[in-house]
Amino acid sequence: MMKIVKLGHPALRAKADAIDRIDDGVKTLADDMLDAMYAHDGCGLAANQVGVTRRLVVIDVREAKRRPSVLRIGGKSRPVHKHMPMILVNPQVEVLAGGKVAGSEACLSIPGVHGDVDRPAVVRARALDIDGNPVEFEAEGLLARALQHEIDHLDGILFIDRLSPEDRRRVADELHEMAGGMVG
Ligand SMILES: [Zn+2]
Repeated sequence: MMKIVKLGHPALRAKADAIDRIDDGVKTLADDMLDAMYAHDGCGLAANQVGVTRRLVVIDVREAKRRPSVLRIGGKSRPVHKHMPMILVNPQVEVLAGGKVAGSEACLSIPGVHGDVDRPAVVRARALDIDGNPVEFEAEGLLARALQHEIDHLDGILFIDRLSPEDRRRVADELHEMAGGMVG
């Protein structure tokens, strides 16, 4: 089982490199990331979170029944569960109209911390699948949020960077305590 690296690990602050060839190493990495994500009940994982700075993310939103997702391909709504898990190579998102929505987030690399993050509600994603085929779809709900959270990881950005100033202060105190940083 691949270890998920935690806040403080340099890979979490690195910009990941594009994958120019989907070889067996990339396929094995994707499988290992899925295993790690499911083992920790996550709904997404980026390669940076297993210490590998390559542009690969895995997502599976099926377990989050109370936080629905919408998936559209070619303008048509599709059953989300049929497209899970997603393995996305070199994913990108484009923000579509619809404004931002607040939603609770947490991260397997920052255990015990959660907070509300404002993110664009509707996005279009483009990526390659694990066989190298281009994929393009629109996402709303948890899927849109997960995509943005994971792609942020590929750019060295963490959800705590996007919290409101008040939440960031609260989280800083929590992180400080977790690190055992009791300062007189
Ligand atoms: Zn995360």
